[in-house]
Amino acid sequence: DYKIPVNTIVSYNEKQNRRLKRVASLKEKLAKALKNDEISIMIQPRLNVTTGKISGGELLMRWNNSTVGPVSPVEFIPISEKDDQIFYLTHYLMKESLKLGDIFAPEAGNDRPFSISVNISPSIIHAEKLHDLIQYTEKAGPDFTYEFELTEGVFLGVDERVADELKLLQSRGIAASVDDFGTGYSNLEYLQDLNINVLKIDKKFIDGIPGRGKQQHLVRAVIQMAHALNLLTVAEGVETPEQFLWLQKEGIDEIQGFVFSKPIELVALQDFYDHHNKN
Ligand code: C2E
Ligand code: CA
Ligand code: CA
Ligand code: CA
Repeated sequence: DYKIPVNTIVSYNEKQNRRLKRVASLKEKLAKALKNDEISIMIQPRLNVTTGKISGGELLMRWNNSTVGPVSPVEFIPISEKDDQIFYLTHYLMKESLKLGDIFAPEAGNDRPFSISVNISPSIIHAEKLHDLIQYTEKAGPDFTYEFELTEGVFLGVDERVADELKLLQSRGIAASVDDFGTGYSNLEYLQDLNINVLKIDKKFIDGIPGRGKQQHLVRAVIQMAHALNLLTVAEGVETPEQFLWLQKEGIDEIQGFVFSKPIELVALQDFYDHHNKN
Protein backbone atom coordinates (compact mmCIF):
# COMPACT_ATOMS: atom_id res chain seq x y z
CA ASP A 1 0.00 0.00 0.00
CA TYR A 2 1.12 3.48 -0.74
CA LYS A 3 1.69 5.57 2.37
CA ILE A 4 2.03 9.34 2.35
CA PRO A 5 5.51 10.16 3.70
CA VAL A 6 4.99 11.63 7.16
CA ASN A 7 7.68 14.26 6.61
CA THR A 8 5.73 15.75 3.73
CA ILE A 9 2.63 16.15 5.86
CA VAL A 10 4.51 17.85 8.65
CA SER A 11 6.29 20.26 6.37
CA TYR A 12 3.05 21.05 4.57
CA ASN A 13 1.35 21.86 7.86
CA GLU A 14 4.30 23.99 8.92
CA LYS A 15 4.20 25.89 5.68
CA GLN A 16 0.47 26.43 6.06
CA ASN A 17 1.04 27.56 9.62
CA ARG A 18 3.72 30.08 8.67
CA ARG A 19 1.45 31.38 5.94
CA LEU A 20 -1.46 31.89 8.35
CA LYS A 21 0.82 33.63 10.83
CA ARG A 22 2.15 35.98 8.17
CA VAL A 23 -1.36 36.84 6.98
CA ALA A 24 -2.48 37.54 10.56
CA SER A 25 0.55 39.70 11.20
CA LEU A 26 0.14 41.61 7.93
CA LYS A 27 -3.55 42.15 8.63
CA GLU A 28 -2.73 43.72 11.97
CA LYS A 29 -0.01 45.95 10.52
CA LEU A 30 -2.12 46.92 7.52
CA ALA A 31 -4.76 48.31 9.87
CA LYS A 32 -2.22 50.93 10.97
CA ALA A 33 -0.50 51.44 7.64
CA LEU A 34 -2.40 54.56 6.58
CA LYS A 35 -2.03 56.22 9.97
CA ASN A 36 1.72 55.45 9.95
CA ASP A 37 2.14 56.88 6.48
CA GLU A 38 3.33 53.57 5.02
CA ILE A 39 1.10 53.62 1.93
CA SER A 40 2.17 55.37 -1.24
CA ILE A 41 0.78 55.58 -4.74
CA MET A 42 2.60 55.07 -8.02
CA ILE A 43 1.33 55.70 -11.54
CA GLN A 44 2.09 53.65 -14.64
CA PRO A 45 1.65 55.73 -17.81
CA ARG A 46 -0.39 54.37 -20.71
CA LEU A 47 0.57 55.06 -24.32
CA ASN A 48 -1.82 55.83 -27.16
CA VAL A 49 -0.32 53.77 -29.99
CA THR A 50 -1.88 55.87 -32.76
CA THR A 51 -0.75 59.29 -31.55
CA GLY A 52 2.41 58.19 -29.76
CA LYS A 53 1.31 60.21 -26.76
CA ILE A 54 0.56 59.36 -23.17
CA SER A 55 -3.20 59.06 -22.69
CA GLY A 56 -3.34 58.43 -18.97
CA GLY A 57 -2.04 56.16 -16.26
CA GLU A 58 -2.97 53.51 -13.73
CA LEU A 59 -2.64 54.19 -10.02
CA LEU A 60 -0.95 51.35 -8.16
CA MET A 61 -0.67 51.00 -4.41
CA ARG A 62 2.56 50.41 -2.50
CA TRP A 63 3.04 49.38 1.12
CA ASN A 64 6.35 49.65 2.94
CA ASN A 65 6.22 48.52 6.56
CA SER A 66 9.06 49.37 8.96
CA THR A 67 9.49 45.81 10.25
CA VAL A 68 8.28 43.64 7.35
CA GLY A 69 9.62 45.83 4.52
CA PRO A 70 7.87 46.29 1.18
CA VAL A 71 4.84 44.04 0.68
CA SER A 72 3.49 43.46 -2.85
CA PRO A 73 -0.09 44.51 -3.59
CA VAL A 74 -0.56 40.97 -4.88
CA GLU A 75 -0.23 39.94 -1.23
CA PHE A 76 -1.79 42.80 0.74
CA ILE A 77 -4.75 43.74 -1.49
CA PRO A 78 -6.46 40.33 -0.99
CA ILE A 79 -5.91 40.71 2.78
CA SER A 80 -7.38 44.21 2.69
CA GLU A 81 -10.41 42.91 0.80
CA LYS A 82 -11.37 40.59 3.67
CA ASP A 83 -12.58 43.56 5.73
CA ASP A 84 -13.08 47.32 5.42
CA GLN A 85 -9.39 48.09 4.86
CA ILE A 86 -9.75 48.15 1.08
CA PHE A 87 -12.30 50.99 1.38
CA TYR A 88 -9.94 53.15 3.41
CA LEU A 89 -7.02 52.36 1.13
CA THR A 90 -8.97 53.21 -2.01
CA HIS A 91 -10.24 56.43 -0.43
CA TYR A 92 -6.67 57.41 0.28
CA LEU A 93 -5.67 56.61 -3.30
CA MET A 94 -8.52 58.73 -4.68
CA LYS A 95 -7.53 61.61 -2.43
CA GLU A 96 -3.92 61.34 -3.57
CA SER A 97 -5.01 61.26 -7.21
CA LEU A 98 -6.32 64.80 -6.89
CA LYS A 99 -2.73 65.97 -6.54
CA LEU A 100 -2.41 65.24 -10.25
CA GLY A 101 -5.20 67.71 -11.00
CA ASP A 102 -2.80 70.65 -11.14
CA ILE A 103 -0.81 69.10 -13.96
CA PHE A 104 -3.97 68.65 -16.00
CA ALA A 105 -5.80 71.85 -15.19
CA PRO A 106 -7.37 73.46 -18.30
CA GLU A 107 -4.90 76.36 -18.17
CA ALA A 108 -1.98 73.94 -18.35
CA GLY A 109 -2.51 73.84 -22.11
CA ASN A 110 -2.51 70.07 -22.59
CA ASP A 111 -3.80 68.84 -25.90
CA ARG A 112 -6.14 66.13 -24.67
CA PRO A 113 -7.74 64.79 -21.50
CA PHE A 114 -5.63 62.69 -19.19
CA SER A 115 -7.31 59.57 -17.83
CA ILE A 116 -6.55 58.24 -14.34
CA SER A 117 -7.24 54.52 -13.93
CA VAL A 118 -8.21 53.20 -10.51
CA ASN A 119 -8.50 49.54 -9.51
CA ILE A 120 -11.87 48.92 -7.90
CA SER A 121 -12.09 45.73 -5.84
CA PRO A 122 -15.22 43.62 -6.30
CA SER A 123 -15.97 44.08 -2.58
CA ILE A 124 -16.35 47.83 -3.17
CA ILE A 125 -19.04 47.15 -5.77
CA HIS A 126 -20.72 44.50 -3.65
CA ALA A 127 -20.80 46.69 -0.54
CA GLU A 128 -22.20 49.53 -2.67
CA LYS A 129 -19.35 51.84 -1.70
CA LEU A 130 -18.82 53.25 -5.18
CA HIS A 131 -20.87 56.33 -4.35
CA ASP A 132 -18.35 57.45 -1.73
CA LEU A 133 -15.47 57.22 -4.17
CA ILE A 134 -17.20 59.11 -6.95
CA GLN A 135 -17.22 62.32 -4.91
CA TYR A 136 -13.49 62.71 -5.55
CA THR A 137 -13.88 62.59 -9.31
CA GLU A 138 -16.24 65.56 -9.18
CA LYS A 139 -13.29 67.74 -8.31
CA ALA A 140 -11.53 66.75 -11.51
CA GLY A 141 -11.51 69.27 -14.34
CA PRO A 142 -12.51 68.57 -17.95
CA ASP A 143 -8.95 67.67 -18.94
CA PHE A 144 -8.63 65.18 -16.13
CA THR A 145 -10.93 62.16 -16.23
CA TYR A 146 -11.23 58.83 -14.41
CA GLU A 147 -11.51 55.24 -15.47
CA PHE A 148 -12.51 52.54 -12.98
CA GLU A 149 -11.00 49.11 -13.60
CA LEU A 150 -13.15 46.11 -12.70
CA THR A 151 -12.13 42.47 -12.97
CA GLU A 152 -14.27 39.98 -14.86
CA GLY A 153 -15.47 38.33 -11.65
CA VAL A 154 -17.63 41.39 -11.01
CA PHE A 155 -19.68 40.58 -14.09
CA LEU A 156 -20.36 36.97 -13.19
CA GLY A 157 -24.04 36.23 -13.51
CA VAL A 158 -26.71 38.80 -14.19
CA ASP A 159 -26.63 41.35 -11.44
CA GLU A 160 -28.82 44.40 -11.70
CA ARG A 161 -26.83 46.15 -9.03
CA VAL A 162 -23.67 45.95 -11.09
CA ALA A 163 -25.58 47.26 -14.11
CA ASP A 164 -26.83 50.18 -11.99
CA GLU A 165 -23.35 50.96 -10.71
CA LEU A 166 -22.03 51.04 -14.27
CA LYS A 167 -24.83 53.40 -15.30
CA LEU A 168 -23.91 55.60 -12.38
CA LEU A 169 -20.29 55.74 -13.55
CA GLN A 170 -21.38 56.58 -17.07
CA SER A 171 -23.62 59.40 -15.86
CA ARG A 172 -20.68 60.92 -13.97
CA GLY A 173 -18.34 60.75 -16.95
CA ILE A 174 -16.27 57.94 -15.47
CA ALA A 175 -15.16 55.24 -17.92
CA ALA A 176 -15.35 51.56 -16.97
CA SER A 177 -12.78 49.03 -18.04
CA VAL A 178 -12.51 45.27 -17.77
CA ASP A 179 -9.19 44.47 -16.08
CA ASP A 180 -7.22 41.25 -16.70
CA PHE A 181 -9.55 40.37 -19.57
CA GLY A 182 -9.41 36.69 -20.44
CA THR A 183 -8.39 35.36 -17.02
CA GLY A 184 -11.74 35.04 -15.31
CA TYR A 185 -14.71 32.99 -16.27
CA SER A 186 -17.48 35.05 -17.77
CA ASN A 187 -19.91 34.52 -20.59
CA LEU A 188 -19.04 37.71 -22.54
CA GLU A 189 -22.69 38.76 -22.63
CA TYR A 190 -21.90 41.57 -20.24
CA LEU A 191 -19.68 43.19 -22.87
CA GLN A 192 -22.71 44.11 -24.96
CA ASP A 193 -25.25 44.51 -22.17
CA LEU A 194 -23.37 46.70 -19.73
CA ASN A 195 -21.82 50.16 -19.96
CA ILE A 196 -18.21 49.21 -20.53
CA ASN A 197 -15.73 51.33 -22.46
CA VAL A 198 -12.34 49.66 -22.27
CA LEU A 199 -10.95 46.14 -22.48
CA LYS A 200 -7.55 45.52 -20.89
CA ILE A 201 -6.05 42.33 -22.32
CA ASP A 202 -4.16 40.48 -19.58
CA LYS A 203 -0.39 40.14 -19.65
CA LYS A 204 -0.77 36.35 -19.74
CA PHE A 205 -1.87 36.61 -23.39
CA ILE A 206 0.60 39.33 -24.32
CA ASP A 207 3.50 37.18 -23.00
CA GLY A 208 2.99 34.69 -25.83
CA ILE A 209 3.28 37.14 -28.74
CA PRO A 210 4.70 37.29 -31.23
CA GLY A 211 5.61 33.67 -31.67
CA ARG A 212 3.09 31.36 -30.10
CA GLY A 213 0.46 30.80 -32.77
CA LYS A 214 -2.55 30.19 -30.56
CA GLN A 215 -1.93 33.25 -28.40
CA GLN A 216 -1.59 35.41 -31.50
CA HIS A 217 -4.93 34.21 -32.82
CA LEU A 218 -6.55 34.86 -29.46
CA VAL A 219 -5.23 38.39 -29.07
CA ARG A 220 -6.09 39.26 -32.67
CA ALA A 221 -9.64 37.96 -32.21
CA VAL A 222 -10.07 39.85 -28.94
CA ILE A 223 -8.98 43.13 -30.53
CA GLN A 224 -11.40 42.63 -33.42
CA MET A 225 -14.27 41.66 -31.17
CA ALA A 226 -13.64 44.65 -28.89
CA HIS A 227 -13.60 47.05 -31.84
CA ALA A 228 -16.81 45.57 -33.23
CA LEU A 229 -18.37 46.33 -29.84
CA ASN A 230 -16.90 49.84 -29.85
CA LEU A 231 -14.53 49.17 -26.97
CA LEU A 232 -11.08 50.67 -26.61
CA THR A 233 -8.36 48.01 -26.37
CA VAL A 234 -5.36 48.15 -24.04
CA ALA A 235 -2.58 45.55 -23.92
CA GLU A 236 -1.14 45.01 -20.44
CA GLY A 237 2.38 43.96 -19.57
CA VAL A 238 3.99 44.80 -22.92
CA GLU A 239 7.70 44.31 -22.34
CA THR A 240 9.44 44.14 -25.73
CA PRO A 241 9.53 46.23 -28.92
CA GLU A 242 8.56 43.08 -30.86
CA GLN A 243 5.35 42.77 -28.85
CA PHE A 244 4.68 46.44 -29.31
CA LEU A 245 5.10 46.35 -33.10
CA TRP A 246 2.93 43.27 -33.44
CA LEU A 247 0.15 44.82 -31.35
CA GLN A 248 0.40 48.07 -33.31
CA LYS A 249 0.04 46.14 -36.56
CA GLU A 250 -3.04 44.40 -35.18
CA GLY A 251 -4.67 47.71 -34.34
CA ILE A 252 -4.34 47.86 -30.55
CA ASP A 253 -5.38 51.30 -29.27
CA GLU A 254 -3.17 51.64 -26.20
CA ILE A 255 -0.43 49.80 -24.37
CA GLN A 256 0.75 49.67 -20.78
CA GLY A 257 3.97 47.94 -19.88
CA PHE A 258 7.64 48.16 -19.07
CA VAL A 259 8.51 48.78 -22.75
CA PHE A 260 6.94 52.23 -22.35
CA SER A 261 7.25 52.85 -18.62
CA LYS A 262 7.38 51.13 -15.25
CA PRO A 263 5.19 52.58 -12.50
CA ILE A 264 6.66 55.97 -11.44
CA GLU A 265 6.17 58.31 -8.48
CA LEU A 266 3.27 60.73 -8.79
CA VAL A 267 5.68 63.67 -8.52
CA ALA A 268 7.60 62.35 -11.54
CA LEU A 269 4.55 62.37 -13.81
CA GLN A 270 4.80 66.04 -14.81
CA ASP A 271 8.25 65.58 -16.35
CA PHE A 272 7.31 62.31 -18.01
CA TYR A 273 4.18 63.86 -19.49
CA ASP A 274 5.94 67.00 -20.73
CA HIS A 275 8.65 64.92 -22.32
CA HIS A 276 6.17 62.75 -24.27
CA ASN A 277 3.31 65.08 -25.07
CA LYS A 278 4.76 68.49 -25.56
CA ASN A 279 7.34 67.86 -28.21
P1 C2E B 1 -3.08 44.89 -12.22
O1 C2E B 1 -4.29 45.76 -11.99
O2 C2E B 1 -3.16 43.92 -13.34
O3 C2E B 1 -1.88 45.91 -12.41
C1 C2E B 1 -0.81 45.72 -13.30
C2 C2E B 1 0.39 45.08 -12.62
O4 C2E B 1 1.29 44.63 -13.62
C3 C2E B 1 1.18 46.05 -11.75
O5 C2E B 1 1.77 45.31 -10.70
C4 C2E B 1 2.27 46.53 -12.71
O6 C2E B 1 3.41 47.03 -12.08
C5 C2E B 1 2.55 45.24 -13.46
N1 C2E B 1 3.11 45.50 -14.78
C6 C2E B 1 2.81 46.49 -15.63
N2 C2E B 1 3.50 46.39 -16.77
C7 C2E B 1 4.28 45.29 -16.64
C8 C2E B 1 5.25 44.65 -17.50
O7 C2E B 1 5.53 45.08 -18.63
N3 C2E B 1 5.83 43.52 -17.03
C9 C2E B 1 5.56 43.03 -15.79
N4 C2E B 1 6.21 41.90 -15.40
N5 C2E B 1 4.67 43.60 -14.96
C10 C2E B 1 4.02 44.72 -15.39
P2 C2E B 1 1.57 45.73 -9.17
O8 C2E B 1 1.70 47.20 -9.04
O9 C2E B 1 2.47 44.85 -8.38
O10 C2E B 1 0.06 45.36 -8.89
C11 C2E B 1 -0.36 44.03 -8.87
C12 C2E B 1 -1.85 43.94 -8.67
O11 C2E B 1 -2.24 44.45 -7.39
C13 C2E B 1 -2.66 44.76 -9.67
O12 C2E B 1 -2.72 44.10 -10.88
C14 C2E B 1 -3.97 44.88 -8.95
O13 C2E B 1 -4.74 43.71 -9.11
C15 C2E B 1 -3.54 44.98 -7.49
N6 C2E B 1 -3.53 46.39 -7.07
C16 C2E B 1 -2.52 47.29 -7.08
N7 C2E B 1 -2.93 48.49 -6.60
C17 C2E B 1 -4.25 48.35 -6.29
C18 C2E B 1 -5.27 49.22 -5.77
O14 C2E B 1 -5.06 50.40 -5.51
N8 C2E B 1 -6.52 48.68 -5.57
C19 C2E B 1 -6.81 47.38 -5.87
N9 C2E B 1 -8.05 46.95 -5.66
N10 C2E B 1 -5.89 46.55 -6.38
C20 C2E B 1 -4.63 47.02 -6.60
CA1 CA C 1 -5.55 47.11 -13.05
CA1 CA D 1 -4.54 44.13 -15.11
CA1 CA E 1 -3.12 41.34 -13.43
